[in-house]
Amino acid sequence: MDVLDHWVNGAAVASATRLPVTDPATGRVVRHLAAGDAVDVDLAVRSASAALAEWRRIPALTRGRLLTDLAHRIRDDAHDLVALEVSETGKPDSAAVAEIDTSATYFEFYGGLVGMPAGETLDVAPDQHVYTRREPFGVVGVVTPWNVPLNQAARACAPALAAGNTVVVKPSEYTSATTVRLAQLATEVGIPDGVLNVVLGTGAAAGAALVEHPGVAKVAFTGSVPTGRVIGRIAADRIIPLTLELGGKSANIVFADADLDAAVTGAVQGFTANAGQVCSNGTRLLVQREVYDEVVVRLVKQTSRLQVGRDIGPIITRDQFHRVQEYFAIAEAEGAHAEVGGTVSALAAETGGFFVDPTIYTGVDNSARIAREEIFGPVVVVIPFDTEGEAADIADDSEYGLVAGVWTSDVSRALRLGDRLRVGQVFVNTWSTGSVQTPFGGWKNSGYGREKGVEALHHYSQVKCVTIRFASHP
Ligand code: NAD
Repeated sequence: MDVLDHWVNGAAVASATRLPVTDPATGRVVRHLAAGDAVDVDLAVRSASAALAEWRRIPALTRGRLLTDLAHRIRDDAHDLVALEVSETGKPDSAAVAEIDTSATYFEFYGGLVGMPAGETLDVAPDQHVYTRREPFGVVGVVTPWNVPLNQAARACAPALAAGNTVVVKPSEYTSATTVRLAQLATEVGIPDGVLNVVLGTGAAAGAALVEHPGVAKVAFTGSVPTGRVIGRIAADRIIPLTLELGGKSANIVFADADLDAAVTGAVQGFTANAGQVCSNGTRLLVQREVYDEVVVRLVKQTSRLQVGRDIGPIITRDQFHRVQEYFAIAEAEGAHAEVGGTVSALAAETGGFFVDPTIYTGVDNSARIAREEIFGPVVVVIPFDTEGEAADIADDSEYGLVAGVWTSDVSRALRLGDRLRVGQVFVNTWSTGSVQTPFGGWKNSGYGREKGVEALHHYSQVKCVTIRFASHP
């Protein structure tokens, strides 16, 4: 069985203690990984600090070309990366293929944007030349979750590196393999040693040490709200900038005037993607009362066609599998009606994997726990509404503010809700996670700062203003 080591300064580094990694599709251990601690983190941060000068000395376009080369290597290695990702997440191959491709696209996109956004010159006085520069922070610490592991690492690393920082990543202890491979590929394409390092281990031992390390100048965290709070406190003490990409309980709103075929397809995709383990999934489906019954019937029909194992992968860990089952019990206690699902899949007993059936609940309102708390399984709650204002009120009645969907044929309504809804992104007549070009991030408890798009470069660089007084007459 293979062993996964840290990747520091362009080489593998072992740890004396190791942690098992389980394939959630079988419940079996597939490999072991180095259980890193503060000592490993220190080595990685020192390597990243030492690499800063060399990385910044490389002309911007050459740095960009290296990132683009890495994108090509990810695509060339896609077959192996897919196998690694599937071995630790159990997700369907097709989902892993899409994830690896998007990961390559991040490096392509930001490789082409090095040097962007540039500074400005400011007209302050006739005898002053004033300009701003955007400069890297230094060493960026990246902490990622398990749901789309390589995608999450690429989403943060690509803009951080493009902006001239060096990086230490701490991936989830459940899904570290593709992030280590990413760093190995970076070394293989000629990205200097120490520019992209990976330290493995638990959040408590390796993640916390990374955020606390005095050599780390900015942290990008993607994960749960409780961990985000812990990291936020450390960052506040250290007075370092932080990006927090946290959870969601996003509303997908279907109006009676919508194209119901498209809306139902989007709704099913919106709560079943990655077995419901996507922060931006549409887990509250708000449906206008005139079409409520029809939408529920269609929803059940489409969802019933999905095959667990083929279309819907497992829940990531045994603990999370149990947590989803706890929510099935909570739903029952709250008087919710399972139109479909609410059960562990038969496949779980056959395979030992952590599979649940896709689940549609009706019969509760937005005050139910299953409508308020992030379940992180393929579970949706369908809630009726009468008016546009009521739909917006329900959508915004959440501690989260990540995404909202609107399905309508009325452009004015789409624009009104695009303005009104208190979330980081609104999708109208489509349900997606956006593109690498579109800024992504949360309002309220869903976090702050932005990943993706040109916007992310602002979050991985800081402004310096230089004022030069000069003799305005010879
Ligand atoms: P998590 O918070 O348990 O763990 C995320 C990462 O933080 C892991 O690498 C973990 O080891 C590390 N960690 C844990 N405790 C730590 C600590 N004290 N200090 C430093 N690091 C620590 O989250 P998870 O269960 O891996 O992921 C699921 C959550 O992530 C969900 O809430 C989901 O909504 C959220 N998520 C958000 C986005 C987004 O872009 N907004 C994307 C994916 C997932």
